[in-house]
Amino acid sequence: MTMQIYETRQKVVDGKPIGWHMVCSNSSGSRVYPVGYCADHAPHPTAEDAERCYRAWTLDTARFSIESPDEMRRCGVCGDWTLMRAEVGGSFPVLVPLCPTHQDRASLDAATSKPTT
Ligand SMILES: [Zn+2]
Ligand SMILES: [Zn+2]
Repeated sequence: MTMQIYETRQKVVDGKPIGWHMVCSNSSGSRVYPVGYCADHAPHPTAEDAERCYRAWTLDTARFSIESPDEMRRCGVCGDWTLMRAEVGGSFPVLVPLCPTHQDRASLDAATSKPTT
């Protein structure tokens, strides 16, 4: 089975690192390509910038109001039980539980942000 790996990588041209892209590669390493907005622009100065760029893309391309009829989950924002989900993540989508009042980009952002320590 081939696995897809998402990670930030330095782009190297003529032996010199020129910046960072979020890339997708398969487990054998035979194919590596930039994903999200990084597919269309020059590399970022830092890996963090590339991560932020990819995250913005997953939020911008998210699908909302998907009903998952079999399982009640708690909304990622308010904690209400809901059957509704939002889908993020491009080719390997993740379903995020969000109640009907929180089916929007800002709520999805809040529900999926990593807790800051
Ligand atoms: Zn980018
Ligand atoms: Zn909610």
